[in-house]
Amino acid sequence: MQILDGKIVSTAVKERVKEQTTLLRSSGKKTPHLAAILVGTDGGSETYVASKVKSCEEIGFASTLLRLDATIPESTLIEAIEKLNADDDVDGILVQLPLPKHISEEKIINLIHPGKDVDGFHPNSVGKMVQGLPTFIPATPYGILMMLEHYQVETKGKHAVVIGRSNIVGRPISILLNRNTYPGNCTVTVCHSHTHNLKELCLQADIIVAALGKPGFLTADMVKENAVVIDVGITRVPDVTKKSGFAIKGDVDFEHVAPKCSFITPVPGGVGLMTIAALLTNTYNACVSKFEHQTALNS
Ligand code: NAD
Repeated sequence: MQILDGKIVSTAVKERVKEQTTLLRSSGKKTPHLAAILVGTDGGSETYVASKVKSCEEIGFASTLLRLDATIPESTLIEAIEKLNADDDVDGILVQLPLPKHISEEKIINLIHPGKDVDGFHPNSVGKMVQGLPTFIPATPYGILMMLEHYQVETKGKHAVVIGRSNIVGRPISILLNRNTYPGNCTVTVCHSHTHNLKELCLQADIIVAALGKPGFLTADMVKENAVVIDVGITRVPDVTKKSGFAIKGDVDFEHVAPKCSFITPVPGGVGLMTIAALLTNTYNACVSKFEHQTALNS
């Protein structure tokens, strides 16, 4: 059994982006700039946004964190996004989800300029991804692809079972694993809360992506020998032994599933770290493609 180590892969990806950013700056081009918007003070969202901003600083990006009160009207958030869309120095915009109930996530996502959509949630990006065209790939699925590639996990012809069909993880990773490229060329079964015979389907899987948000859901009796298991789940469960008062749990019963696997991601230390590395890669690409576009226009 081999651990797919998010720390090793994310460090390598971040180092590469950092080197490229240094080259960009030394050649007089602009510094990549990520703008993050946080609405409200949800503990999990605060942590995610803080680590995204910190990672930007570590690799030499510029970053802006815009904090807005949970009670703001939707129009205030719309104005903030329009301002960032128009700001030439900003390459990537991310709005931390979930948003308060009175704000339409769909409307807000659709408003982000597709060229700055580093989360890859805009319908423009999703459409291109489905068609296999170059675009921003949502950070978590992109991070999973990076891991599979780093460890050269064979995917061609494999049966992948994806548990979960959300727009941010389950659906995009199912599309990506099905692409005619590497990592991809899987035969994909997408499962969700209405799926019958989930256990039987999982037992047929060469690759399982667990992205449902139920700690320890995937147990050893659902996994065949030598399967590849990708655990996307991140759930905070109360734990008095931790200073924070909670522990982070994945969707996989790691202790019992791991011995059966050829490859498995741990939680923490797996997919979560890759998500940030992928987001930074998207932001770097947004910056570079803007510059190339301007160069093309000038020539
Ligand atoms: P979501 O709630 O939007 O979607 C969950 C999906 O799981 C749904 O499609 C639902 O149909 C399916 N599901 C629920 N119960 C099921 C069951 N019993 N059997 C089969 N399918 C079932 O969640 P999400 O946003 O996709 O996130 C899933 C998990 O991944 C969460 O724990 C979340 O915190 C985590 N997550 C991690 C990262 C990361 O960086 N590692 C990023 C995003 C989300």
